[in-house]
Amino acid sequence: MARASSIDLNAFTPSTRATFQQYVLESPNNRRVSQSDKGAIIGWLTNPRKRPSSQKEFSRRNYVQKSFILEEGSQLLLARAKTAVDKDRIVVTEDMIIDVVESVHNNIGHAGWDATWKAINTSYYGVPRSDLIFLLRRCQICARNPSKRPKSSLRIPLNAQPIDQEVHDFPNSGEMQYDFPSWYALANHHNTGD
Ligand SMILES: [Zn+2]
Repeated sequence: MARASSIDLNAFTPSTRATFQQYVLESPNNRRVSQSDKGAIIGWLTNPRKRPSSQKEFSRRNYVQKSFILEEGSQLLLARAKTAVDKDRIVVTEDMIIDVVESVHNNIGHAGWDATWKAINTSYYGVPRSDLIFLLRRCQICARNPSKRPKSSLRIPLNAQPIDQEVHDFPNSGEMQYDFPSWYALANHHNTGD
């Protein structure tokens, strides 16, 4: 009992899944890719004769064609690598976020937030770091094993910082913000206030 095999257990309970689904609905994030976003991206990639009907669509098409690719054979939608050291990343729609986080987090042995984030961000596109943290805080394996708790949460009492400090730290953590889909912002310009 004391040493339950983490491989045999799900990181997330059905209740966590329901909570996360609600959270996604209530906390929009431009970094997530909905099914309709994905459909629109694939539409621009697969139909070269589709003409943009506005400047907005033109920008959006250019962004999509520059940023995404359909893998030959598998037809997997990939976000193109930005640099020579990166690799193309699998586009994760928002309904798959929890499964991807669970799988990656299990595979790396319930390592902490930073390690899990790095593993996900290296291979997958469309998972906001804030979603990752939301989920890892609720990982039942980590909760049962104090030695596997994220270092960040252990630091909090020492620094006497409020727990939400972690949330405010994300945008400063480097990797997360730079590749917001600008076409998405364009398509939702009423939200950006311009
Ligand atoms: Zn865990």
